[in-house]
Amino acid sequence: MKAKTYKDLSPSPRTIMTPGPVEVDPRVLRAMSFPILGQFDPEFTALMNETMGMLRELFMTDNEWAFPVDGTSRSGIEAVLVGLIEPGDKVLVPVYGRFGHLLTEIAKRCGAEVVTLEKEWGYVFELAELEDAIRQHRPKLVAMVHGETSTGRMQPLEGVGQVCREVDALLVVDAVATIGGIELATDRLLIDAVIGGTQKCLSVPAGMAPITYNKRAEAKLQARKKIERGLLLADGEDDPLLRPIQSNYLDLSQLQDYWSPARLNHHTEATSMLYALREGLRLVLEEGLEARFARHREHEAALVAGLEAMGLRQYGDPSCKMTVVTCIEIPAGIDGESVRAMLLDHFGIEIASSFGPLKGKIWRIGTMGYSCSKRNVLLTLGALEAALLRHGHRLEAGRGLQAAMDSYKI
Ligand SMILES: *Cc1c(COP(=O)(O)O)cnc(C)c1O
Repeated sequence: MKAKTYKDLSPSPRTIMTPGPVEVDPRVLRAMSFPILGQFDPEFTALMNETMGMLRELFMTDNEWAFPVDGTSRSGIEAVLVGLIEPGDKVLVPVYGRFGHLLTEIAKRCGAEVVTLEKEWGYVFELAELEDAIRQHRPKLVAMVHGETSTGRMQPLEGVGQVCREVDALLVVDAVATIGGIELATDRLLIDAVIGGTQKCLSVPAGMAPITYNKRAEAKLQARKKIERGLLLADGEDDPLLRPIQSNYLDLSQLQDYWSPARLNHHTEATSMLYALREGLRLVLEEGLEARFARHREHEAALVAGLEAMGLRQYGDPSCKMTVVTCIEIPAGIDGESVRAMLLDHFGIEIASSFGPLKGKIWRIGTMGYSCSKRNVLLTLGALEAALLRHGHRLEAGRGLQAAMDSYKI
């Protein structure tokens, strides 16, 4: 029998303007092609330690623990929640979009008694609403999203950490979409654990989830570990509420031992992904956090100026818009999916639709990491204008790009 042959891999060039995954800097792609080192090779463990230091800078923290979990961002969220939630714990999740529901879902699987606080999509919570709910419910843990990519909104976190300390709750934040693009000062905001993402503003492929957590979070982990070893319980006693961590792969206490100087073997570290993350972090730190946040704001301003000049309306409360995601209403009578297909098939440009109640109602344009550039913004505006005209939408040709060029002072 003749062996079946397969074509060479040759992905089409794309301009990716979605809220992830986004384009990856060629330096990161090159780093991924370097030779493999053994996971206990001192040269590799030195790279692991160096990456931990870089992650501390990214998360703006002095925490001892900052390392990546192998898996997509969701693995980081799950590792943190499954480690910090004991069955029966009360957990408060303020939900203002799809990813709040993900936190709820994972917390329930951890056996938590979950209390949700819901906000209409397109808006975020006032500090007072969060304070009241935290004081009323006195949860063991509060889990919330920093930047909701589903709605393009960002929840201000000033003051939330203080109330959590008041009731002795841990504060866990999903900063998957914001880390490296919008400031998140972990220590200043008194956040106990943060999960970041690679494939969004860090512009590294999906496959790792950088996390950090402080001593308060670690204390909870360590206590559970002692229970697991039977150290806290008298002979034969079994506390029904305190149980060992319900995961092996995502057992944060074991992951911590693996990233500690003891290097207790857990999984095999994803060598090439670590190279990628390290190079991605090197790019971020070379650019400088402040300069990087400013770059994201600059391109967002040009994109928004262009879209508005085309007569397109933004979705959601403008006062809490994420700089790295811009949501626009699909004009009446226009088939949003047909426009997206035209952009992808004929211009090689990808923008995103949305989920649940917003499906078919809005487009989401990401300006994240390496994808966040003048070239990409201008190309996207030009292509979107052409596709809209082709779909019979009436707009004044040329105005969008001119407005963006004004914004760039071209
Ligand atoms: C993208 C995203 C996630 C999920 O990340 P994966 O890498 O797909 O697992 C979680 N939270 C937020 C806010 C996101 O934007």
